[in-house]
Amino acid sequence: MPAERTWHWLQRLFDEQREALLALSALFVFALMLTVFQFGRLDERFREDLQVQAHIVADTAAAAVLFGNAEDASDILSAFRSAEAIEQALLLDASRLALAGYNAPLQARDALLHQWAGIERLSVPVMVKQEQVGELIVHASRIGIWQDLARFVGTATGMLVAALGLAWLVSGRLRAHVRDAERRTRYLAHHDALTDLPNRETFRVALERAAYLSREHQQPAALLFIDLDNFKQVNDNHGHAAGDHVLQVVALRLRALLRPNDMAARLAGDEFALLLQAPVDEAMVQQLATRLVDQLRQPVDEAADSIRARVSVGVALLPQHAHSAEEAMQCADAAMYHAKRQGKDGYQLFSAELGEVLRARLRLELDLRQALQRQQIRLAYQPLFDKEGCLVSFEALARWHHPQRGWVSPAEFIPAAEASGLIVEMGLLALRVLAEDQQAWRARGLDCPPVALNFSSRQGRRPQDRQRFLAALDELGLGPEAVEFELTESALFEDLGTADSMVAQLQQRGYALAIDDFGTGYSSLAYLRRMRCRKLKIDRIFVHGISDSDDARMLVGAIIGVAQAMRMQVVAEGVETAADQRSLIELGCDLFQGFGLSRPLAPDQAAELLRAQQQGQRVSVQAEPA
Ligand code: C2E
Ligand code: MG
Ligand code: MG
Repeated sequence: MPAERTWHWLQRLFDEQREALLALSALFVFALMLTVFQFGRLDERFREDLQVQAHIVADTAAAAVLFGNAEDASDILSAFRSAEAIEQALLLDASRLALAGYNAPLQARDALLHQWAGIERLSVPVMVKQEQVGELIVHASRIGIWQDLARFVGTATGMLVAALGLAWLVSGRLRAHVRDAERRTRYLAHHDALTDLPNRETFRVALERAAYLSREHQQPAALLFIDLDNFKQVNDNHGHAAGDHVLQVVALRLRALLRPNDMAARLAGDEFALLLQAPVDEAMVQQLATRLVDQLRQPVDEAADSIRARVSVGVALLPQHAHSAEEAMQCADAAMYHAKRQGKDGYQLFSAELGEVLRARLRLELDLRQALQRQQIRLAYQPLFDKEGCLVSFEALARWHHPQRGWVSPAEFIPAAEASGLIVEMGLLALRVLAEDQQAWRARGLDCPPVALNFSSRQGRRPQDRQRFLAALDELGLGPEAVEFELTESALFEDLGTADSMVAQLQQRGYALAIDDFGTGYSSLAYLRRMRCRKLKIDRIFVHGISDSDDARMLVGAIIGVAQAMRMQVVAEGVETAADQRSLIELGCDLFQGFGLSRPLAPDQAAELLRAQQQGQRVSVQAEPA
């Protein structure tokens, strides 16, 4: 339909050139007003000139009219020949009879033109001594006005067009820049700037479409979720430029593996994903995953000490394992974690067993979310004693009693809380519970020793979470005399470096930090020196049975030596027997924590212990928290 198409074309033109069209319309209205004004001026001058000319001729012809001299009258009228606008003139005598006439010599075309332009009729009396002796009738065409106006409009339009053209030329470059910038912004909104791969959002859209096609049109697809192994170490050991280079090389290699319709994307820091579009089958996907792991493992460049990017890959098939994009991501993610647990540098296909693990994890997450909303997480307090058996401080340990599950071990729910991000809320709830328990102890007239809270790296990963945590500490009045923090080596390691890191901010505010489970992580002396923590807690695997093992004694002795050199207090975790404690005292250990001294206590039991301690009684509490 041509009319409809023209309308669409006009609409598009208007949308694209809105500003230019508006400017042009404004100019057009301005030019129209100028033209109308100019027409008025020219018309006024035309009528004035006509009056003057007619009066001159009427005065000159007065004698000829008075004496009825038609020849003279005709000669006088012929003076109008020089006036282009006058078309006809007629001299009438006193009895209104025609004495002489004048007709301008006109072409037929001009006559039409003059008709169109409009005719002005003027009648002037012929006077002799203030007595009318006749009448001069003049017909003049406005053609001259229109010609003048046309010249004016022509000149004005010419100037406007020239000015517009100049402005258009000058702004052309600017527009090109703006268009480039727009194109770039649009590109960046869908791509990752470092690797040039599509970003998470673009990938999500493609995955959703693939999920739809696999579900509704039986076109199977595959999702490969790729996570670099130990990428943080690459950054720390070789610098960020090297880290960026590794990511770029990974992106190039992923691209090289794909068929034209497939997509590789960078989802986040060291996370990538591949979407293999139909046709796909399990054997082909496994083959590709094997090749992928193998090719990424190759050195990133030719140098002898070149970095190797090793990856763990989780694979999910659509619709076999998942029906939606979100489900596919969860399956591939679960498979990837399994690949990591299997020793990294490999791939894992999602399976029914993994599906069960995933479902169990999701159920646990759901229950935990509810428990947090209902504030069902409590704290148990395990005391730390010195050599003389005096209670020095407590470690607060999260406890969760679920109506159906019963007591859930922290070894189960803490990793789930960390993986789901719920640990952030849990950390905030722990602060509130601790503040309440301490308040209750104080209300019973007890002096509260410092309490150490465990802090997971995930709690301080995002700046807004760090801010909320610090604000909660202030709000609840939990100062450095009331609370300390325990971080594992890996948490410290991840937090390292930035000025606004959690470790830096907590230390700045005077909170004491302890390195938890020392010996099970990196055990790096360099980090120990940089972190300047007040306490070092030796993991219970080194402590257990130390009295019977020379090797364990040697190892713990070495750890204690290092800690003392750095002026750190040493805490032995998991002290279960008096013999082990004696060995630890001999080696120079400062503080002791373990089931052999006291199990974690419910707040009321902890209060009893504090009261006994304040009354100088010998402390021995072996109860489980209720
Ligand atoms: P952790 O910080 O190393 O806490 C010490 C763990 O050792 C506790 O386990 C404690 O009950 C146990 N333990 C103490 N003495 C002995 C002993 O003599 N023998 C044995 N076999 N075990 C002993 P729990 O309460 O199950 O906590 C496990 C881990 O969960 C904690 O290890 C900590 O890493 C984490 N966790 C607990 N509560 C929280 C919390 O509120 N926030 C965070 N982020 N993590 C927490
Ligand atoms: Mg701890
Ligand atoms: Mg520990």
